[in-house]
Amino acid sequence: MLKAIYGTKDVLPKDVEKWNFLESTIKNIFASFNYKEIRTPLLEETGLFSRSIGEETDIVSKEMYTFQDRSETSITLRPEMTASVVRAFLEHSLSSQSSLNKLFYIAAMFRQERPQAGRFRQFHQFGAEVLGSSSPLLDAEIIILAYTILKSLGLVDITVKINSLGITSSRKVYLEILKEYLEPHLNELSEESRKRFEKNVLRIFDSKFENDIQIMKDAPKLIDHLDDESKQEFQVVQNILRSEQIPFLLDSSLVRGLDYYSKTTFEIVSDKVGSQSALCGGGRYDGLIELLGGTPNYGVGFAAGIERILLALQNEKTKLPDNSSLDLYVVLLNKELLNEYYLFATALRKNHLKVEIDYLSRSVKAQMREANKLRAKFVALFGGEEYAENKVVLKNMGTSVQQVLPLENADKEILLSVGS
Ligand code: AMP
Repeated sequence: MLKAIYGTKDVLPKDVEKWNFLESTIKNIFASFNYKEIRTPLLEETGLFSRSIGEETDIVSKEMYTFQDRSETSITLRPEMTASVVRAFLEHSLSSQSSLNKLFYIAAMFRQERPQAGRFRQFHQFGAEVLGSSSPLLDAEIIILAYTILKSLGLVDITVKINSLGITSSRKVYLEILKEYLEPHLNELSEESRKRFEKNVLRIFDSKFENDIQIMKDAPKLIDHLDDESKQEFQVVQNILRSEQIPFLLDSSLVRGLDYYSKTTFEIVSDKVGSQSALCGGGRYDGLIELLGGTPNYGVGFAAGIERILLALQNEKTKLPDNSSLDLYVVLLNKELLNEYYLFATALRKNHLKVEIDYLSRSVKAQMREANKLRAKFVALFGGEEYAENKVVLKNMGTSVQQVLPLENADKEILLSVGS
């Protein structure tokens, strides 16, 4: 039997309602903060990601879907959106049209990770990228946005963690201090962390090995070695979050896996999704635009995983709004009225009612059963004696009250009844 690729998932009609609810909530909140949607291609040249995310990160070194196309160009299915958004920003000179670009997306990403609950090979993220300002107001705003969206979706058990990575020059000084601390412990570190010591020492904070975690607990903290500008801006961010009553924890081990972050970094975790607890992550990446060939400019953003949010909602037993019920099911009583029956339903559909009819020549009883199964609010009985008198019976399935309506204004009456 043909099957979906390992780590990818069909979203079947019974679940699509949830996705639609998530997507419309996300779009409404982004609209109220005046973020504009951007859509970029799934395929990009591989170099875009290796340059921006960094060769030694897990994403680039192990997880990308990369292939040669027929003209021998190395192509990658995007593993994240920031690089693509910055590429589009530079390619279309968006900064010349507007000095500040507040962008958002909802899109599929691809990473060849080991699938497990909350981790897939094709997954979906929504996120924001703000290009053009160093204001810490925006660092705060993206955290507020992410938090507001997660709360509006109904999540309760979430924790915001924040940290500041400082600017490159202060981080360089700190990295030497961290290396000095780690040197005597090198033999005790895991092999992976020993490699990171050479290539990207900060990432040892991400290690999952217990021994590494113990050693890193006593390590000097980046937050204690921040430059004055980053320190002051981090205070602004915290003050805004407090005024907005967004609870947060300071987490000095939050270093993120990507190379281009600076200053604010944050993560929102769910206490209800086991090991894959990160729902959302982001921060400032002021170096990236220049790295990708643009004139130096500022950037800050976040990305959140939709599948993981759905899992958290399910584990929190959150009831999502359900719009799957029908307004009206039209039961056909006499098969010879098929044409009139169809036109009757179409007229109501043109009035934006959600209407279903029988396409399977079912008995009246079976049609009523179907109407119940589809949770129709009203049933119209089309045909019979009433039709002979130019009328139709309308039954309210909630109250079981029946009305007989003249056919010529049945649509208006039904609209009134369904709407009330
Ligand atoms: P990242 O781009 O790695 O910072 O991830 C941002 C968010 O995307 C994470 O917090 C997750 O919610 C989600 N995410 C990342 N990788 C996966 C994956 N393989 N499967 C499902 N969701 C993911």
